[in-house]
Amino acid sequence: MIHIDPEAIHPVVDDVWHRTRLARIPEPGQVIAMLCGVTAAATFEPLNQRRAHGAPTECPDCDRIYRQEHNIPQARDRLRQR
Ligand SMILES: [Zn+2]
Repeated sequence: MIHIDPEAIHPVVDDVWHRTRLARIPEPGQVIAMLCGVTAAATFEPLNQRRAHGAPTECPDCDRIYRQEHNIPQARDRLRQR
């Protein structure tokens, strides 16, 4: 048995990583939806392949939605306070 925390799943689509509301591990090929609405079929690779196509950047829409849902100040607001 392999145990994976669904909260730790951050799918990379076109070199951008997204957040999801997955409650369970997707099946290979299963289409999953990101917080921002992007959908993609699930494929699995070891973590060391994550930067094979260049370092992924965080999806700004997923970041904004995630922060809203968890009452985390928005990134732009934190920058303004400095
Ligand atoms: Zn996204």
